[in-house]
Amino acid sequence: METPESLNGFFASSVKINSKKIFIIPVVGNQILLRLSDNQAQPFPIEESDGGVLKFFCKNRLCIGQWQGSDCEVWDLMKEAEACEGFVCSELRSLLASSNDPEFSLASRAIQIVDWYRKNKFCGQCGEPNELSCTEHSLTCVKCGINHYPRISPCVIVAVVYEDKCLFARHPNWPVDRFSTLAGFIEAGESAEQALHREVFEEVGIEIENIRYVGSQAWPYPGQLMLGYMASAKQDIITVDGVEIAEAFWFRYDQLPPIIAPPTIMAGKLIKKFVEEASERYG
Ligand SMILES: [Zn+2]
Repeated sequence: METPESLNGFFASSVKINSKKIFIIPVVGNQILLRLSDNQAQPFPIEESDGGVLKFFCKNRLCIGQWQGSDCEVWDLMKEAEACEGFVCSELRSLLASSNDPEFSLASRAIQIVDWYRKNKFCGQCGEPNELSCTEHSLTCVKCGINHYPRISPCVIVAVVYEDKCLFARHPNWPVDRFSTLAGFIEAGESAEQALHREVFEEVGIEIENIRYVGSQAWPYPGQLMLGYMASAKQDIITVDGVEIAEAFWFRYDQLPPIIAPPTIMAGKLIKKFVEEASERYG
């Protein structure tokens, strides 16, 4: 079956098509191993035939779908694989920041599937071992038969705008010049819209209106799904909670904070959208 063009070559299935060519994403801990050529890290995934010695260090291999029409697997490798010649470990956050959309999805999915497999060896209901299903991404309890699927935690992230300014906040453990848009987990029983109203009010004491959905993005820490929004503030007086947020300020579209998220990740996409819209209106 052809992968729809809109998916940019990545089909996130759990079922193998048994293609001749196999792509692999080698993972050590929470890092992805990239292949080196002339001392330059190469794009991923790599072909299995280029994986060389990695097979020797492979603890588990799990199908994460198809990449450009061929099966793609994540390989969970032993720590020793870090030292393999011709490969270099890449810190996930910086890799994601520099990836395009399909690479981002691949890396995100690979890390999440490995993490899910490692953390669900035993059934949460009865404590007996789980076994991997052959037909879907499910770990099934050998005793009570309950299925354990990879867990996805939805979060909202929002650019709160007041006239030509956007609200940026700094978390207590961030460097002094790093700011971002507000974000938080959706609580059990809450809608995304309710979570937006609650998070913004809790963190900075502002009521919002005109909520607009922008898009979503998987974020593998470990299984978040970021739902991105723009919203308007009803007024501009900020009252920080002092716990989740250390400080928050309004920044004009042409005077943004020194360190902000790159446009490859959702926070950066929202900031870019704010700047585009504000410069059109106020520039
Ligand atoms: Zn069980």
